[in-house]
Amino acid sequence: MVKNESETRRVDALIVGAGMGGLLALRKLTAEQGLDALVIDQAAGVGGTWFWNRYPGSLSDTQAPMYQLPFEKELYQRTKWTKRYATGPEIREYLEDAVDFWGLRDRIQLETALVSATWDDTAHEWEIETSKGSIRATYLITALGLLSNRNVPDFPGIGDFAGRIVHTADWPADLDITGKRIGVIGNGSTGVQFMTAAAKVVGHLTSFQRTPQFSVPAGNREYSEEELQAFKDECESIWDQYTREKLGFGVDEVSRKTTDVSDEEREAIFEWAWQKGGNYTFTNETFADVTSDHSANKLAADFVRRKIAEIVEDPETARRLTPTEIFARRPICDSGYFEIFNQTNVDLVSLRETPIVTFTDRGAVTSDGQLHEFDVLVMATGFDAVEGSYRGVQITGREGELLSEHWADAPRSHLGITVSGFPNLFMILGPNGPFVNNPAAIGIQSRWIARTIGHLVESGGESIELLPEVEERWLDTCLDELHGSLFLETGSWIFGNNIPGKRKAKTANFYVGGLDNYIRISDAEIDDGYPSYDIRVAASV
Ligand code: NAP
Repeated sequence: MVKNESETRRVDALIVGAGMGGLLALRKLTAEQGLDALVIDQAAGVGGTWFWNRYPGSLSDTQAPMYQLPFEKELYQRTKWTKRYATGPEIREYLEDAVDFWGLRDRIQLETALVSATWDDTAHEWEIETSKGSIRATYLITALGLLSNRNVPDFPGIGDFAGRIVHTADWPADLDITGKRIGVIGNGSTGVQFMTAAAKVVGHLTSFQRTPQFSVPAGNREYSEEELQAFKDECESIWDQYTREKLGFGVDEVSRKTTDVSDEEREAIFEWAWQKGGNYTFTNETFADVTSDHSANKLAADFVRRKIAEIVEDPETARRLTPTEIFARRPICDSGYFEIFNQTNVDLVSLRETPIVTFTDRGAVTSDGQLHEFDVLVMATGFDAVEGSYRGVQITGREGELLSEHWADAPRSHLGITVSGFPNLFMILGPNGPFVNNPAAIGIQSRWIARTIGHLVESGGESIELLPEVEERWLDTCLDELHGSLFLETGSWIFGNNIPGKRKAKTANFYVGGLDNYIRISDAEIDDGYPSYDIRVAASV
């Protein structure tokens, strides 16, 4: 631990972030590489995303057996999921257990924020300032999360609102919404989960919706002991599957196209997916062209639109809830979202039709002159995602360049892990990493980082630095892979265009070429002896 502010602690590796990525990196660097590693996190507990996102209804919409830290067989055997999807509290409990099972508690320093990190090219190490003192480390691993920097939009007069304003990713422990009047802005994954849970207990809920949302049933259900045991018995084959899957969500990624079947068969397949539940089941286990072909996308979208019309009793509410854009903003699933709009305590305001003109002390006034009153305003408004997580920390590279300057035009990296000009810096879930099931990406990247650091230690390498031309090539690869993706045509955090003014000319944010290809490319880098890197070896070696 850092003992006092004037003392500098020395570690082999400093890991920033005690979420899934930081914890797995800590495990790998200590157990597999024998390093002295330390995790810091500004939160008061471990869990990262799951520490902060404590809003009612918080749940992973990836099936629990796939939403676990991979390549850790003993840990996998300890899990006690009861349902298909794990709740926020269950995931926090799972990560707390991992920390104790691996004996890592003493290596985690909480309530400690990264302030700055500067590469010292003489000592070949990072000089780090935290809110609790200085640390020097040979390796800096940033596991800041994809979705950490909250987006809190401004609205006219919002300062006049006398009630409480909360963001779902900073949910106060003392807030009980039972019986209260709630206004909700945002209906992405978070808003949909929150509203579906909240509608059961609040006095009244008003959803202020900007863009109507495609959502399919999650299909949450109890798991039997036998099912869970089967997952445990087969965990290694789940990880082995990563090398053959595009997404790593554990869905059967079909190659069949919408045009390969008759109209009746297609309807039956969509209905099968609707009944089975799951966002990626609907988009990837039905037909391969749903997210890449406009006609196929329209067939899937029309199916969901018909479902909304069937579920929502009031035709006017159903109309406002029905998306008119393509089905490619974000894949969402729910546990009765559209159904809540049949409840008498739930209202829907379309911000496209009647935007908020001002807030008063009692609520929001929309352009039709109506005052919508509430006690609590819930911002489920998402995040300045991916490189947005790096805003606010000052990371300075070998030539004195700030990471924020390096990314001024577009965030760039190799594999979402390394950045040219920033030796011995390794990111987990950094920009231009794979767009896949996050624990899968975290597992692959932590393994890559541990192997690479292991290689450096063994070979007497002082530093490893990405060649600048490789970084440019990887950005081009990421951009090339995006061609044909319908997701590019909508606005969302996935491509950084949810934040006004943020989208830059050449931004990819993710590599969408598939988990299988990502593993092949990243493994080849190691197997071929790091051709994309400059490895400096200590003079005495
Ligand atoms: P999000 O997908 O970015 O959704 C933000 C919502 O806020 C959207 O409905 C957006 O409307 C609305 N919004 C933002 N600014 C607004 C403004 N100025 N006025 C009105 N509305 C505004 O954020 P999220 O729901 O937190 O989800 C982010 C990601 O977190 C998800 O895609 C998912 O990857 C992850 N997540 C996962 C889970 C899970 O595993 N179950 C749960 C929650 C979140 P527009 O659509 O019009 O932009």
